[in-house]
Formats: sequence, structure tokens, C-alpha cells
Amino acid sequence: GHPVYRDMPTTIFEHMSARARETGAINLGQGFPEGPGPQDVLQAAADALLTRSSQYPPMPGLIELRTALADHYARRQGLDLSPQDIIVTSGATEAIAASLLALVRPGDEVLMLAPLYDAYLPLVERVGGVARVVKLMPPDWRVTRDALEAAITPRTRILLMNNPVNPTGIVLREAELALLADLCTTHDLIALCDEVWEETVYDGLPHRPLIGFPGMRERTVKIGSAGKIFSVTGWKVGWMCAAPPIATLLARAHQFLTFTTPPNLQWAVAQGLGWPEDWLNDQRAAYQASRDRLAAGLSQAGYVVQPSGATWFLSIDLPASGITMDDVTFCNRIIDEAGVAAIPISAFYPDDPVTHLVRLCFSKSDATLDQAIERLAAFR
Ligand code: GLN
Repeated sequence: GHPVYRDMPTTIFEHMSARARETGAINLGQGFPEGPGPQDVLQAAADALLTRSSQYPPMPGLIELRTALADHYARRQGLDLSPQDIIVTSGATEAIAASLLALVRPGDEVLMLAPLYDAYLPLVERVGGVARVVKLMPPDWRVTRDALEAAITPRTRILLMNNPVNPTGIVLREAELALLADLCTTHDLIALCDEVWEETVYDGLPHRPLIGFPGMRERTVKIGSAGKIFSVTGWKVGWMCAAPPIATLLARAHQFLTFTTPPNLQWAVAQGLGWPEDWLNDQRAAYQASRDRLAAGLSQAGYVVQPSGATWFLSIDLPASGITMDDVTFCNRIIDEAGVAAIPISAFYPDDPVTHLVRLCFSKSDATLDQAIERLAAFR
């Protein structure tokens, strides 16, 4: 039959941001920083716009950016990528779509872990993939071999995963990543690894890329985002990294999706990646302080906060906080009655096994966080 709206729903992030704009609520829903982004990166983009070409850059991206990314990943994550392994995209969302378009054949099964980012399932289904979702459950959200093995069949071809995890702020453990790598090599799967939160990991923990595990270099697509690393989400500069046979396929998909990405933004990101890394560590410390500020304020107001080790998000547990509403009802009520927008965690599951958690974004100024805390305290 014809496609129906259910197949391509309105993303929860746009839905909630539109409602926040209408009502004037403080938007702790969709994840974006409140600040303008690092001044030096903005200046580099402005300079490049006036002094460099605005015509099509090379289809796989500016060589300056691809080289800067290879160097950045060597320094920060010990990876040995060549510029030829990297294709610049118009945001990580394009990288996910391009990877699925390039690699999924109709009927191929795609293994995913829920909670899953809301773009994954509609894209997998539109390219003809069959979703196999392993649900991770609170409070610990751990990945187990039994659950994964039960979901893998001879038709499974792709593992699509996110680490660190949006919305929970979970960082997968070394043993969990080793298990995923082992399953990929044993069952001949390609891993699409959405690592856009790689530079927002807190409490001194490192980010461990799946592509660095034994046997994964030739079968992993590592996806990243300048919007997240540089706190400029509207730029939509992302990338995908993979070894040559896969990288060639990815480039073919990218050429028919967006073809290229604004060259001045690519140039500015390349400059920013080349600067001394202190600022990245300072940015990370600032986000960690914001996480702690929101968590402390909400706790003081009687909300039970789930620990978050990464991303720009933390969650509150409604029943543990003495609230009997489900997550969707709570989000609808606080946007109208408290003037705060949030995201229900059930939006990250294909059905509704988890309806008691609400995600709040903490990449905001202290004043905004304090005002949101005050409003949520008064709502109780
Ligand atoms: N990644 C953002 C979030 O989780 C949303 C991005 C988008 O809306 N496309 O809030």
C-alpha cells in the first residue's frame, strides 16, 4: 500500500522544540548548547566565507578537514585513519542515512540497541532493512551476550549503535565493546558506530572507539559530528570513517544525498581541530559542571536523577520522584504548566517498555539551568 505517516513520524526533537517556541518555554528538550560556539571557530568560518571559494568543494570533503580529522583521531583516540578513509557529510544524520543507503540491501537485518536514536528505525525501514532491536533496560542498561545472540540470524548484516548513548548518557564498558566486536567478527557484521558524543564523556573516562577493537578496522563505519565537538549544532558538518572498500560505497551514497557540505564551515572545523587540545578539555569540564548543577538542583527539588556519564543529557525517574504520570504526560504538562520542555525516553523505543524517564538537556548557562530548576521545583 501507500506509505503512511507512521512510517516517517515527526521527530520528537522538532515536535518539542516547536512547542517550546510557541509557548516560550525554556527548551531543555532538543539537545543544543545555549552559547554561540567558540569565537575562534566562528571567526574562521566568517574569514573563509569572505576569502575562500564558495563553489563546490571536493565531493568527499576538503582535504584540509579530512587530514585534520585523521590527526585528531590519532591524537585523541590512538586511531590510524588516513584522510582517504574519511568522508565529510552534512551532519551525522546524513552520515547515518548514507551508510544505511550504501550498505543495507532489502531484507538485510539490522541489529540495534534500544534506547535508540529516533532517526535509526525509520531510516533502516525505508532502505528495506529489517530491524532487530535488543532492548536495554534500566536501571543499569547493560548489554549481554545472550540477548544479542538471540537477535542475530544468518540474515543479520549490520550493527547500528550509538556510544556514548543518547538519551541515557551511558558509556559502554570495555567488556561490552569487546563483546560487540567479537559478535561482529564472528557473524561477519558491519558496525555503524554513531560516536557523536565522543568528546562529551565526563568523570575522567576515555572514549573507546569500536573501530579500534581487534578485527574492526575493516568492518566499522565511525560517525562523528563537528556540531557536537564545537557546540555548533546548526552547522551540520559531520563525517564517516571506514576502510577503502566500504568508504567507496559510502562516498557513492553521499554524492546522491547532499553531494557536498558548505566549504567555509569545513575549513573552520579543520582549523579548530588543529588548535591545542586544552580548550576541548575545558569545554568538557564546563559541561560536566552544568550536568552537576542541574542534577544537584533537581535533587534538591525532590526529583530523583539517573546518573549520566556522557552527552548533554540527564534523566529524571518519575515514580522514584513520587510522580505517577507517564513520561509523555509529564512532558506535556511541564511544557504548558511549568514552562520547561523535555523529551520522554519512550520516544527512543519502538514500543513502550520504558515510560518512566524524562530526558533534560544541561548544555545551558547557569542562569537558564537555575530558572528551569526553579520552575520544575514549583511544579511539584
Ligand atoms: N541529537 C539531538 C538530540 O538528541 C537532536 C538532533 C535533531 O533534532 N536532529 O536532542
